[in-house]
Amino acid sequence: MSQQTKFLLNEDQMPKFWYNLQADLPKPLPAVLHPGTLQPIGPDDLAPLFPMALIMQEVSQEREIEIPEPVREVYRLWRPAPLFRAHRLEKILGTPAKIFYKYEGVSPAGSHKPNTAVPQAFFNKEAGVKRLVTETGAGQWGTSLAFAGSLYGMEVEVFQVRVSYDQKPYRRAVMETYGARCVASPSNETVYGRSVLAKTPDHPGSLGIAISEAVELAVQRDDTKYALGSVLNHVLLHQTIIGLEAMQQMEMADVWPDVVVGCTGGGSNFAGIAFPFIGHGLRGGAKPRIVAVEPAACPSLTRGKYAYDFGDTGKMTPLTKLHTLGSQFTPPGFHAGGLRYHGMAPMVSHVKELGLLEAVAYNQIECFEAGVMFARAEGIVPAPEANHAVKGAIEEALRCKREGKAETILFNLCGHGHFDMTAYQKYFSGGLTDEHYDEAELAMALAGLPSVSA
Ligand SMILES: *Cc1c(COP(=O)(O)O)cnc(C)c1O
Repeated sequence: MSQQTKFLLNEDQMPKFWYNLQADLPKPLPAVLHPGTLQPIGPDDLAPLFPMALIMQEVSQEREIEIPEPVREVYRLWRPAPLFRAHRLEKILGTPAKIFYKYEGVSPAGSHKPNTAVPQAFFNKEAGVKRLVTETGAGQWGTSLAFAGSLYGMEVEVFQVRVSYDQKPYRRAVMETYGARCVASPSNETVYGRSVLAKTPDHPGSLGIAISEAVELAVQRDDTKYALGSVLNHVLLHQTIIGLEAMQQMEMADVWPDVVVGCTGGGSNFAGIAFPFIGHGLRGGAKPRIVAVEPAACPSLTRGKYAYDFGDTGKMTPLTKLHTLGSQFTPPGFHAGGLRYHGMAPMVSHVKELGLLEAVAYNQIECFEAGVMFARAEGIVPAPEANHAVKGAIEEALRCKREGKAETILFNLCGHGHFDMTAYQKYFSGGLTDEHYDEAELAMALAGLPSVSA
């Protein structure tokens, strides 16, 4: 009878390859379309935004893509990341289920995001890029790219969504500590930002708007590229190191998951833990249930339309087919800032259409309840985004209790909540409400989707 709690890999057991689910999909991804011509685009069309190495990863059908040794060297600052068994949480819930969680909060930025920020900065540096421009919502991605940029001596400029710029001064301070420049979006620094401010001077901002601003700046200068923290195939690819490590650690624990749970904003941490297991299943291995948990206030997977849409509000990015609430939709201001994006990653959307995952949505108060229960049982205070995964795992454990099943549940604890304590304070004082999106605005945003015959 093992009561082992912590499953650790040695540095030399850290994966040397990322896993590309595209190689094992029964049906390929729909084409990416040019925003002007609506015709399929090729790698060259993306060259103003990304270095060719990342574009080739974006379209690659190779199953394994090598992690360059210099990237592995940086990864070793916090990887391999630990896997824990949540014995105390199991006891409190009185469940026969075994609950395991992979903890990504051990990175310098406190979340999974440096897993892709580091290789993105590395491949840009290799291509001679001097400056990276990006957007950030909650501040997690901006922090991660600022950290990665500092390692490679690159300039990093971050458009931070206005509400979070005002509400999260410490996130900005961390970005500035790493040497990044942080601008509240919508800003006066871009044509698009000025057009938004002209119409709505006190606009709270959104990820979609901040992306437009970043893209606008990136295409203006040859030495500048754009970096995205989620959604794109190459970002999801980089995150698969989470699931690849977790597979080895589950083997160490002598179990295999029946259910894999992750929270979904743009889909990257979820894909990171889930895609290696989905691929293993597609190649004839065990097929765990795969559960994506999203906020009820921004329900792209459960309520969005599967259609071609822009990745940004200013309609500058290529069109991809994805579950979307409409690129013109501004999600309500709930506290899981990293989950406030109008669209789901095309890969995650496609996998849902193939019936390879289930999606559920929960409200923020019930997610904070779950997060507080987890913190008191396991000691880690989860990020508000991660609370959705915790809630999803607890619901699975309670189902096991009702059904008398000793299943094994694995979830991704994608980050800690140390910069989000205002949200916890609000929860404790009863000041947190369950935000509902505006049905009329959603209908309008969906009606405005670009018409694409494909
Ligand atoms: C950014 C972020 C998310 C949402 O992004 P995904 O691409 O869906 O992973 C979730 N959790 C944390 C902690 C984040 O920082």
